[in-house]
Amino acid sequence: MTVTVRFAPSPTGKLHVGNARAAVLNWLFAHKEGGRFVLRLDDTDRERSTAEFAEVIGTDLAWLGLTHDAYARQSDRFPLYEEAAAKLKAAGRLYPAYETADELERRRMRQRARGLPPVYDRAALALSDDDRARLEGEGRKPHWRFKLNQTSVAWHDLVRGEVSIDTATVSDPVLIREDGQFLYTLPSVVDDIDLKISHVIRGEDHVVNTAAQIEIFEALGGPIPIFAHYPMIVGADGEKLSKRLGSLSLESLRADGIDPMAVNALLAKIGTSDPIEARRTLGELAAEFAFERISHAPARLDPDDLKRLSTKLLHLKPFEEVAPDLAALGVGGGAVFWTAIHDNLETLDQAVDWWRIVAEPQDPTISGDPVLLAGARLLPEGDLTEATWQPWTKAIGAATGLKGKDLFFPLRLALTGREHGPEMKKLIPLMGRTRVLARLRGERA
Ligand code: GLU
Repeated sequence: MTVTVRFAPSPTGKLHVGNARAAVLNWLFAHKEGGRFVLRLDDTDRERSTAEFAEVIGTDLAWLGLTHDAYARQSDRFPLYEEAAAKLKAAGRLYPAYETADELERRRMRQRARGLPPVYDRAALALSDDDRARLEGEGRKPHWRFKLNQTSVAWHDLVRGEVSIDTATVSDPVLIREDGQFLYTLPSVVDDIDLKISHVIRGEDHVVNTAAQIEIFEALGGPIPIFAHYPMIVGADGEKLSKRLGSLSLESLRADGIDPMAVNALLAKIGTSDPIEARRTLGELAAEFAFERISHAPARLDPDDLKRLSTKLLHLKPFEEVAPDLAALGVGGGAVFWTAIHDNLETLDQAVDWWRIVAEPQDPTISGDPVLLAGARLLPEGDLTEATWQPWTKAIGAATGLKGKDLFFPLRLALTGREHGPEMKKLIPLMGRTRVLARLRGERA
């Protein structure tokens, strides 16, 4: 069997860490199995789907590096859905119902008041041809419901194990609205059959849909894919993520300078038995992907993890990879400078500050400290190298009787203007002898 999976977003909004997780998990599984990843736009909702959202989804996926092997758009595929609907009607599995939303709501309220589950009572199945003609004569248009088998539907879920749902506890799902618009349920099944989807990997909010959809697969005579439903993401304190989604849209993470591999790693590892650690490539994450590692408990998201992973990835980046970005920021110094400072960066643009500190004149921060006076006197002749620092500071220590913080703090402050930063032994060769001497003397240099 060729593994074929799909990521099926509706272009009715932006991708955020919640819905992008489906993309990441499907992509990783496909690539682990040498399979195919289909991007399917679920755009049957003509009022809410927009070309702009579709475009941002494309940009977001490209940013994450989640390439697709095939692309489908449901709005291009209506004839297939019509054909499937006709087949279901002919088999007596799709029936017209005429209740308005208000009538249905009132019925549900009565059911709840009587302690009954608010399941559709199938009143429409009892309508005669005359009843229907009368209702349509009143100007009502039917919506169409799928007649469930009202039996136990069971499957082996790759995350949840054995699942069984009694479809007698579920309302017959509406597949076609009264304005003729297909809702998600049927087109998804038709496409999964037509695009030969082998595995449906999605959030557990779809578990009940799955029971109904399995019945639709059967009614259409299509092969039933393997299902995997992962638990939803919640905030660190267990609350629903939806409140924070604005700041967790991929678009805003991109604008914040978050590394896309930080997003991939977080979404691959969150809610699994693996630690949340940075990985440099999607290939590494794919090799580590396994359904068995996905926990049954909700996945807790700590947005700080994104920053942590992004910073870690920055530290792991070889110079060649960041060279164009550094050049664009006006940062020089080549690989030597990058090696000296990269472990101290949280974001790439902080490299600019360090470049100014080593390469451009700075106002003095302190002067006259005995450590600085001794330092200027004892600075060896010739070019400064990484090997300069250790014997030089040892000599300053011997001359002043100072050590530890008392010795190193004034040097760092005078030379960099900062209390913390990269290793001094790596910075002083980049500053050069003249600048180091002048800064020790309290001059602007
Ligand atoms: N468009 C559906 C959603 O975004 C797809 C769900 C599925 O994977 O079947 O929820």
